[in-house]
Amino acid sequence: MATHVEGRKMFLAGEWVDGKQWIDVTDPQDGSLVDRVPAATKEDMEACIEAAKSGAQVAARMPVVERMQIIGKAADYIEANAERYARTIAKESSKTIREARKEVGRAVETLRLSAEEARRITGETIPFDQSPGGIGKVGYYRRFPLGIIGAITPFNDPLNLVAHKVGPAIASGNAIIVKPATVTPLSALLLAQAFSHAGLPEKILSVITGRGGEIGDVLVEHPAVRMISFTGGVETGLAITKKAGLKKVGMELGSNSPVIVLQDADLEDAVASSVSGAFWAAGQNCLGVQRVYIEDPVFDLFKERFVEQTESYIVGDKQSELTDMGPLITEKEAQRVEGLVQEALDKGATLETGGERDEAFYSPTVLTGVPDDCALAAEEIFGPVALLYRVTDLDEAIERANAVDYGLQAGIFTKNLDHAHRAIEELEVGGVMINDSSDFRIDAMPFGGVKQSGLGREGVKFAIQEMTDTKVVCFKLG
Ligand code: NAP
Repeated sequence: MATHVEGRKMFLAGEWVDGKQWIDVTDPQDGSLVDRVPAATKEDMEACIEAAKSGAQVAARMPVVERMQIIGKAADYIEANAERYARTIAKESSKTIREARKEVGRAVETLRLSAEEARRITGETIPFDQSPGGIGKVGYYRRFPLGIIGAITPFNDPLNLVAHKVGPAIASGNAIIVKPATVTPLSALLLAQAFSHAGLPEKILSVITGRGGEIGDVLVEHPAVRMISFTGGVETGLAITKKAGLKKVGMELGSNSPVIVLQDADLEDAVASSVSGAFWAAGQNCLGVQRVYIEDPVFDLFKERFVEQTESYIVGDKQSELTDMGPLITEKEAQRVEGLVQEALDKGATLETGGERDEAFYSPTVLTGVPDDCALAAEEIFGPVALLYRVTDLDEAIERANAVDYGLQAGIFTKNLDHAHRAIEELEVGGVMINDSSDFRIDAMPFGGVKQSGLGREGVKFAIQEMTDTKVVCFKLG
């Protein structure tokens, strides 16, 4: 267990900078000190924004071929150092080493997609003569960078969710300032290291470590910052939206995703996908499976298999290759989950398995009969708890799936095309997975939610659209 560390520097406008005060980064599984990062001040943030103003001009003028080369080199660097990146994720966050390696692979892919998409930031010609006033005119529109993007990121995918903002921002000629989650800043600093190694001109990227409650407002309210790209919880997202003023906001927020299992489904597949979707990253996953609606004739068998597979999960040391699930990010979070489950049990829910806490660890838990008036039934758990519900048919499943304020993704298991199409039409979400759980995602697809799950879309090409403005050009012919 480390007792003394030198402390990492933060990456301010291309320079590695110390802080006057430090924040300890600890391993959630035993509280051991992993490293320290600077606790940035408001003045640090202001200096960062000042530098980004000239960084944005450099970024906008950088030829696409250079953007592609730099992002590609950053991806290569991460790939070449993949194990170091994965070990860092598996230390500072609650992910197991196997989960962490997967995240590193995805971050490499996110950056390669960003490099590739840079060449596809195009416009289109406009037939101006469709209007009598436009006769004798020709023109087109093009996309231009916004300028400075402020990126605020959560703890649960500390590398790839940062790559999802940095890659598209640089690909589209913006400067970007990243404020990573205070509990998991090291992976974001490693991403900065990759871009520094790749030769990104200074002032285009900053990764500033510090508490959101202390330095966040400076970034969010500053008029020179043209977009806040936020991924995190609804409460924080709402507060940021109110403060941001006249700038773009991208909001990737939470959910309590539903999965529907109909009686004609491939049950083994439905169970395996739903269990994995419920307990990935100890359920701290915006797409995580929370509510499963199972048609009556297959409910008992589904439940039996689901509980069986849940009980086979190995929970423990994140660095072990055998471990399926690690702890929650803090003991306080595990206590929060414990409290939500207890409330459901007090109100009459049945504990099928799990429900045990040991410091920051919470066992994979399955509940049935959770009454609608419990917080668990309506809110995001963000922990390893799955709720199984018996429903009479697809109508009831869709109605219950939609009866919450969230709508990120949903899954439905069925072999019936008509049923699948009804789910596509009627589920109020940003993505519907047929014969997969809500937890399926690739980094190139549009990603984002409706209702309280968010505003706007990520997924490299779609993030680039959000991070650019169109400018129309019209030539009056002689
Ligand atoms: P969080 O508590 O909302 O924090 C997210 C980020 O916001 C952190 O960097 C935090 O900094 C910062 N922040 C806090 N207060 C701020 C303020 N006043 N001004 C500016 N920034 C501020 O979320 P979390 O617990 O890290 O992440 C979990 C949530 O993220 C879940 O709800 C999950 O569903 C959601 N999520 C959504 C997606 C998606 O793509 N839709 C993906 C992953 C996670 P500090 O750490 O310093 O407080």
